[in-house]
Amino acid sequence: MMKKIMTPGPTQVRENVRMARSLATTNPDLDLEFYEYYKDTCELFSELLHTDNVSYILSGEGILGLEAACASLTEPGDRVLVLDNGIFGKGFADFVNIYGGKPVLYTADYRQDFDVNALEEYLKQDHDFKYAAVVHCDTPTGVLNPIETICPLLKRYGILSVVDAVSSMFGVDIDVDTCQADIVCGGSQKALSAPVGLTMVCVSDDAIRAMEQRKTPIASFYANLLTFRDYYKNKWFPYTMPISDIYGLRTALENVKADKEIHQRHAKIAAAVRTAVKEAGLRLYLKKGYCATVTVVEVPEGVDSAELLTIMDNKYGVMIAGCFDFLAGKVIRLGHMGENANVADVTLMLDALDKTFADLGYSLKASMKDVFVREIN
Ligand SMILES: *Cc1c(COP(=O)(O)O)cnc(C)c1O
Repeated sequence: MMKKIMTPGPTQVRENVRMARSLATTNPDLDLEFYEYYKDTCELFSELLHTDNVSYILSGEGILGLEAACASLTEPGDRVLVLDNGIFGKGFADFVNIYGGKPVLYTADYRQDFDVNALEEYLKQDHDFKYAAVVHCDTPTGVLNPIETICPLLKRYGILSVVDAVSSMFGVDIDVDTCQADIVCGGSQKALSAPVGLTMVCVSDDAIRAMEQRKTPIASFYANLLTFRDYYKNKWFPYTMPISDIYGLRTALENVKADKEIHQRHAKIAAAVRTAVKEAGLRLYLKKGYCATVTVVEVPEGVDSAELLTIMDNKYGVMIAGCFDFLAGKVIRLGHMGENANVADVTLMLDALDKTFADLGYSLKASMKDVFVREIN
């Protein structure tokens, strides 16, 4: 049986993306046409983020983009502000440490988005940072941080920004120029709905300049963004590009471009899911700052999350996600991003969830499926 994968990434992949990956290939190192294709694809990615900043597609999963941003900017001894209101946010400290930087954590409530005024007060006292790392949607809690106010604030203090937008991008509109974000990282397998394997980074001139002005060399080859800077001029890539993956990615980007309602649809579905969860008597993990790509629900007393996930998967063929780190066993995560953000699949997921709670002997105050269907129509 084909399972419905309703996790917060990887997501379902549309047939035209799968077909694009099966096209005949050329030698991407030697065929000059591929350099045009790669450049056009990167430019399409930048266009969808509303910017002329340069973008690169790197061969590696989303984590590579985050590491490459940190590797390329961090010099030994650099102070880096790590904006921490979630597991991925805090995780940036590890990358900073690996490359010899000094992470300084700004930790805030994990149950809501950052309060920009509080951050501003903090920065008034201390703003000696080379860059700051911030997560747009921190997927384990589903919090969406206001990068459109955070990044310009950082810029006013001369602090570059690295934004992990892996799980928000294309589910939530991102305007890189308005945000003045310096490095924005995305992944192929979340709302873009291409298979796992690629990361995309959109890099500002300020960020490139900071890399060029380093006193010490970048302590990586694979995660060195400067190795991509002159690929087009020199017709040389630092390593052979995964051409089939990029064919798929291009089609997925074109799907996004053609889908004029993509952001409204995500917002509408997410709002209806939250209403359904609340009317059923379950609790959302967050107090505020909900992202439109994922909904995180507390596992109620008396319910075992592993058992719930197993019934969903084995009996109803719908895969949703639990969580990890301090949230392991405490929440379940409903993914409604990219190709998964459609009424039919979300209805099916909530119907399965209603039935699973019944199987577990837990009575809901309302059917999540019924509330969702009422709200969405
Ligand atoms: C998915 C995701 C990544 C990429 O990490 P993997 O867990 O390896 O897929 C990075 N950042 C965020 C916020 C993500 O949701």
